[in-house]
Amino acid sequence: MVLDDLGSSLRGTLDKLQGKTTLSEDDVEEIVKEIQRSLLSADVDVDLVMELSDSIRERALREEPPAGTTARDHVLKIVYEEMVGLVGESTDLPLKEQTIVLAGLQGSGKTTSAAKMAWWFSKKGLRPAVVQTDTFRPGAYEQAREMAERAEVDFYGDPDNDDPVDIARKGLAETEDADVHIVDTAGRHALEEELIEELEEIEDAVDPDRNLLVLDAAIGQGAKEQAERFDDAVGIDGVVITKLDGTAKGGGALAAVDQTDSSIAFLGTGEEVGDIERFEASGFISRLLGMGDLKQLSERVERAMAETQEEEDWDPEDLMKGEFTLRDMRKQMNAMNRMGPLDQVLDMIPGLGGGIKDQLPDDAMDMTQERLRDFEVIMDSMTEAELENPRAIGQSQIERIARGSGKEEETVRELLEQHKMMNRMMKQFQGMGDGDMQRMMKQ
Ligand code: GDP
Repeated sequence: MVLDDLGSSLRGTLDKLQGKTTLSEDDVEEIVKEIQRSLLSADVDVDLVMELSDSIRERALREEPPAGTTARDHVLKIVYEEMVGLVGESTDLPLKEQTIVLAGLQGSGKTTSAAKMAWWFSKKGLRPAVVQTDTFRPGAYEQAREMAERAEVDFYGDPDNDDPVDIARKGLAETEDADVHIVDTAGRHALEEELIEELEEIEDAVDPDRNLLVLDAAIGQGAKEQAERFDDAVGIDGVVITKLDGTAKGGGALAAVDQTDSSIAFLGTGEEVGDIERFEASGFISRLLGMGDLKQLSERVERAMAETQEEEDWDPEDLMKGEFTLRDMRKQMNAMNRMGPLDQVLDMIPGLGGGIKDQLPDDAMDMTQERLRDFEVIMDSMTEAELENPRAIGQSQIERIARGSGKEEETVRELLEQHKMMNRMMKQFQGMGDGDMQRMMKQ
C-alpha cells in the first residue's frame, strides 16, 4: 500500500514516541490531532471523529503500557481497538439460502454490486441469481444481464415490463433453483418519495433476509440522511461501499453504518465482477489512516505481553539445573535487558565481587539493544536441535544460519561465544549454590 502524506505524518508522530515508556498529555494530543486529520480527510463524519478522539485520549492517558510494551506500541493498540469499534465487524452473511435487496441512489453501484455479490456467493459454492427490477434507468437491464453472464450466475429481468414489483415477484419464481437471490432495485438521483415507495413495495413482495445499502466511497455528508431514509423505509442491515479503487477512502460511509446501527458487508474495488472483497476491519482501517500495518502492530503488542508473561512464569532456578541452552540464553537476555546492563546486574549479585567480571572479556558486557536484536534474528534461523545443543554447531551450520538470518558469520560466532561465556558463568553460579543469586534473578 502506498502511504500517503497523512499516513506518514501520523507515523512520524508515532515514531517520535520511540523509546518512551509513558506518554504526556502533549504526546497524546499530537497523536489525536494526526488521527483526526487523517479521518476527516477520508470523509469520516466530524461527530464520529470527535467521539473516537475522546476515547483514544481518555484511554491513552489512563491506561499504563503493560510490561514489555513501549508507549508507542501501546497507543497504537488503543487506536486500533477504538477504530475497530468505530468501523465494526463485517455484516454477518451466512452461506445459505437467502434473499438480499440492494438499495441506493442511482450511480452508487447497485447493479455492478449485485453481479459481483452473486459471483462472490457462487465462488463459495452457492447458486445465486440476480433479479433486475430497475425499470427507471435505461440500460440497467442490459448491463445487469451482461454482468450476470460474466459472473456465470442465473439472471432474471424483463425490459418490456415497467412494473418493478411484478418483475421482482416473477424473478424469484423464475429463478427458484437458485439459493441466493440478489434483487437489484432502481435508484434516483436524489431521495424522492417515489423511490422510497417503490422500494417498500419490492420489500413487501420479496420479503428479503437482508437489505443492503450501496454507497459510493466518495460519499460525504449525504450518507447520514440517505441511511436514515432507507433505514426508516425498509431497515438497513449492512452497507456495501463501492469504488474503493479510486481515490476516496470510504470514510463517509461510516456515518451510514452508525446511523443504521449496522455494519459493512462488502467493498467494491473495480468494475469487473471479481472486483469485490468481503469487508475486513483491519484493511479498511489501514486505508482510512493511510498506515499499512496497524493490525500487525497491535498483534505485536499482544505477543510482547504474552512473552512477558512467559518470562515471568520462567523460573531462573531452572538454570541451576542441567544444561544452559541457547533457548535459556535468549530468555536470560530478555530478562537482563529489562534489569539493566549485564555488568551492573553482576555488581548487584552479593558475594560475586569482581571475580567473575574480571575473567570476562570486555565485549561480553556489550549487550546493546542492537546486538540483542541481531542475536534474536540469528536464533530464529536455528533449528530446534541447534538451540538445544549449540556445541554441535559447526562451520557449515554457521554458514547456513548466517545466510538464513542475513547476518555476518562473524556475528553468529559472537553469539556462540557469548553463549559459551554465559554457560561458564552459569556453571560458576551453580557452584555457588547461593540462594541470593536465585532471589536476585527473580526480581
Ligand atoms: P447503479 O445505478 O447503482 O446500478 O450503479 P452501477 O452499478 O451502474 O454503477 C455506476 C458506475 O460505477 C458504473 O460505471 C460502474 O461500472 C461503476 N462502478 C460500480 N462499482 C464500481 C467499483 O467498485 N469501482 C469502479 N471503479 N467503478 C465502479
